[in-house]
Amino acid sequence: MSLSRRALLAAGTSTVLAGCAGQAHPSTPRPGPAAVPGSRSEETGSGSSIAVVSSASPAPVTGAVTRNDMIVRYGRIRPIAWGTEVPGVTTTLPTTDRVIALTFDACGGPHGNGYDQALTDFLRRHGVPATLFLNSRWIDANPQVFHDLATDPLFEIANHGTFHRPLSVSGRSAYGITGTHNVGEVFDEVAGNRDKLNALLGHPPGFFRSGTAHCDDVATRIVADLGERVVNFDVNGDAGATFTPDQVTHAVLTARPGSVVIGHMNHPSGGTAQGIAAAVPRLTGSGFRFVRLSDCPISGCLR
Ligand SMILES: [Zn+2]
Repeated sequence: MSLSRRALLAAGTSTVLAGCAGQAHPSTPRPGPAAVPGSRSEETGSGSSIAVVSSASPAPVTGAVTRNDMIVRYGRIRPIAWGTEVPGVTTTLPTTDRVIALTFDACGGPHGNGYDQALTDFLRRHGVPATLFLNSRWIDANPQVFHDLATDPLFEIANHGTFHRPLSVSGRSAYGITGTHNVGEVFDEVAGNRDKLNALLGHPPGFFRSGTAHCDDVATRIVADLGERVVNFDVNGDAGATFTPDQVTHAVLTARPGSVVIGHMNHPSGGTAQGIAAAVPRLTGSGFRFVRLSDCPISGCLR
């Protein structure tokens, strides 16, 4: 990693996910999968309009791995690392090919349920694929948009948590947001939105990113046991949608072969769409192409 890149990341650290951090998360943690919101009957709007692939009711994808299994397995293990880059977190694609994965978070909550249609319109016009990390609350607030995006093969839907909480087994916080307190709450945060997406898409998501992108090394093991891979980023594209368009463009142009860029798709008044629109043609002109996380050029490397 170059100095300039490190400087950029360091500069963005304090505000890296401010667009997410300002959004509420639950004041009352909910116990267990039974309390997970988002069963079909709980959806806002027209329930039938949300069914994307399968109208059946798939079995919970947590399968044989239960909340209690995770508590027994990890309840006594203390984490040794906390942040956005800890063991178990993927931040780049393992390739030297000139490919970049654009990822966009939709964090949900009272100040985070917006939709940057200019951004997705641009991606569609130019055939630029992207991975969209969607929070459960954002999906509930945007059922028609969710359907529209989830049925577009250009986009891949990933898990951005149930309540947008930093993923901790010990109650660590990030940007003032208290994380999950224990193994059971980690399970709830991951499995809640995972089960929702499984019901809506007909298959479980393959990738997870926590609210604020912070997690500890025990939590990442729990996510892996639930069949998902934690993917963060090496390029902070919009600092939680606080960057100006020029700042977004400058940041995205630091991408290298295999970079994973994080941006936000829930703040249409931010500079993300305009900055991305300026950066993409310059990157493609330099020989880069864009991939979804599961399109990793090394077969199966991020599956
Ligand atoms: Zn977020």
